[in-house]
Amino acid sequence: MSSLLISASGVRGIVGEALTPEVAVRFSAAFGRFVKGGAVVVGSDTRTSNEMFRYAVFSGLLSTGCTVIDVGICPTPSLQLLVESLGADGGVAITGSHNPVEWNALKFIRGDGLFLYPEEGERLLQIYQEDRIRRVAWDRIRKVRREESAIENHIRRILSVVDREKIKRKGFKVVIDACNGAGALISPEVLRRLGCKVIKLNCEPNGIFPHPPEPVPSNLGELSRVVRNEGADIGFAHDADADRVALVSEKGEVPPPHYSLLLATRFVLSRKPGTVVTNLSTTQALEDIAKEYNCELIRTKVGDIYVSRCMREKKATIGGEGNGGVIIPEVHYARDGIAAMALLLEYLATCQRPVSELIKEVPRYYMIQKKVKFPRENFPSLEGNLKRKFKEDELNFLDGVRINLKEGWIHIRASGTEPVTRIISEARTKEKAQALYNLALEYLKLSRK
Ligand code: MG
Repeated sequence: MSSLLISASGVRGIVGEALTPEVAVRFSAAFGRFVKGGAVVVGSDTRTSNEMFRYAVFSGLLSTGCTVIDVGICPTPSLQLLVESLGADGGVAITGSHNPVEWNALKFIRGDGLFLYPEEGERLLQIYQEDRIRRVAWDRIRKVRREESAIENHIRRILSVVDREKIKRKGFKVVIDACNGAGALISPEVLRRLGCKVIKLNCEPNGIFPHPPEPVPSNLGELSRVVRNEGADIGFAHDADADRVALVSEKGEVPPPHYSLLLATRFVLSRKPGTVVTNLSTTQALEDIAKEYNCELIRTKVGDIYVSRCMREKKATIGGEGNGGVIIPEVHYARDGIAAMALLLEYLATCQRPVSELIKEVPRYYMIQKKVKFPRENFPSLEGNLKRKFKEDELNFLDGVRINLKEGWIHIRASGTEPVTRIISEARTKEKAQALYNLALEYLKLSRK
């Protein structure tokens, strides 16, 4: 039996094991109390288990006096934007995001369209754990209202921040792989309105995933082939709720998903220098790009809400995460794979060079990412051991441990979404990255009780 994973932004688990309709009703009722019986927008990705969870979420919300605004299948960034546009009190996204099909999750959204801040997530959890969540009497139970505008609202916002005519003039040929997720309902249409010749791959929003939905190179072989065979200018891939986007070059090369953030950042800073925000696990190449434009880069804890929140507070120009989650403030402070796709097309139209060349110009690093079993309780001992070995300014304890060295960096942290410890190392070469990774393993071994 897998366990339910509860974090500040929501609750996730394997459907039918840890994540049941009972859990969804209770969490949604807790959220209903959290928003004091206000208006809550509910949307989901395409997973087949969502039909069950939608009704459970509706019930929980209605039982606490909320008005439910049902947007049906909807990319998470479209849902987040609609919460803000409608002036609703909150939102619930039912999505397992990039996780395999047997997973699902509820993510809770504030009235401004951002995910709950960690301290708010704690408060929600307190309500969830109360013996009895207070429900309303029969005469205060409201209705579920269907709302059809989420996707059009999002498309209009995206098209208002890019140079439509410039992109249209290029008549790009674009392949989009939506993994039969929610992005299928929006990205082909955005591309069409940008004057692209659109080749749809896995764009049936039926929740039957033809490959694992995480947009990483190992899952994008088909996209790469289709881009090459069709002679397309570029290929894009989303995860199941389309808050992420990865790209494929006209030659069929599939770089790691952080290239969408790297290219978007280079384009945005070249026009409008400003602060860049990312998390502690994201590639050094982003820092190098920020430096090229004399811009500051701020690193936060891992978790999209930390990046979003910091971007808003610092009025950042652009930001995001290495997993393909790009945040473009003119659209909103949420990760948005669809807006990022449009922005990257504007970059292509502006620079007049193929994607493969833009990829080549990005500073090269080699990254190793692995998961290991290392209990959370051993972190204090690990910190002690590292403090004895490294200088103070080489260590950062904001989120687990990050060791910054001349030859590269190592980040060791307990995962927020899985019961494992993640180790990431990065250096200019594979050998150096491997040496750093081995060093991390040694310290873990030393710090085991
Ligand atoms: Mg996602």
